[in-house]
Amino acid sequence: MHIEVLTIFPELFEPFFSTSLIGRAVADGSLRVGVHDLRSFTEDRHRSVDDEPYGGGGGMVMTAPPWIRGARELAQGFEGRPPWRVLMSPQGRPLNEQRVRELARRENLLLFCPRYEGPDERVLDAVVDEEISIGDFVLSGGELPAMVLIEAVSRQIPGVVGLEDSVERDSFRNGLLDFPHYTRPRVVEDMEVPEVLLSGNHAHIEAWRRKKSLEATLLKRPDLLADADLADDERRALSVMAERLGVHLPTGLQHHE
Ligand code: SAH
Repeated sequence: MHIEVLTIFPELFEPFFSTSLIGRAVADGSLRVGVHDLRSFTEDRHRSVDDEPYGGGGGMVMTAPPWIRGARELAQGFEGRPPWRVLMSPQGRPLNEQRVRELARRENLLLFCPRYEGPDERVLDAVVDEEISIGDFVLSGGELPAMVLIEAVSRQIPGVVGLEDSVERDSFRNGLLDFPHYTRPRVVEDMEVPEVLLSGNHAHIEAWRRKKSLEATLLKRPDLLADADLADDERRALSVMAERLGVHLPTGLQHHE
């Protein structure tokens, strides 16, 4: 996977690209990254990247030429395979696990991280393939959203997360939330580890985990169940659980009863 970033704050990415799983992926070459200062694509003496909005009003707008120049020049750095060009933006498609997987399959990404009111609209017309949002709230810059995207897609690269199995079991992967995890000590302030996890019986442990996944999803994100890949006995188990816990099953599931 090869990702290049365009920003006015390249220094924000330094610790990110040198720490933990991302740091290791960069060091061993499974993730290739580059960060570029938008100002290096300016042509005026002051290296300015923003200006007042046409039409008046508050807030500065990022001027189009440095983005367009930067995008065109950086696109050359992907060895003939044009990158997918993503503008971080609260107006974009909200990021979710399925989109993360789609992005990871693209292999080459160029991420634009604006500040202020965002870029002149013509940047979108000229050099952006897709706008992506990390949620319905507004941050002051695209750098943190880009890091969120990079960390999420990096987890899809084989070997980046130590135990591949752990990505397979992560929340959302199979349409359900993850099951609860426990580690030593065995007792924490009178709270015991569930007995089944100490049993050594792998079939029982698997069944318990699947049940807990279903239960967590039912309680915390019932909306996910409508699209989850469920066996008939799991649908039945869910409706028993829903009754016991006094919660409603999402509509899609009810008529399977
Ligand atoms: N005036 C713009 C917001 C600008 S915020 C608007 O209302 O649409 C400045 C920059 O922060 C944006 O250009 C974008 O790159 C980034 N940003 C803010 N919130 C974001 C979000 N939820 N997802 C992705 N990027 C975001």
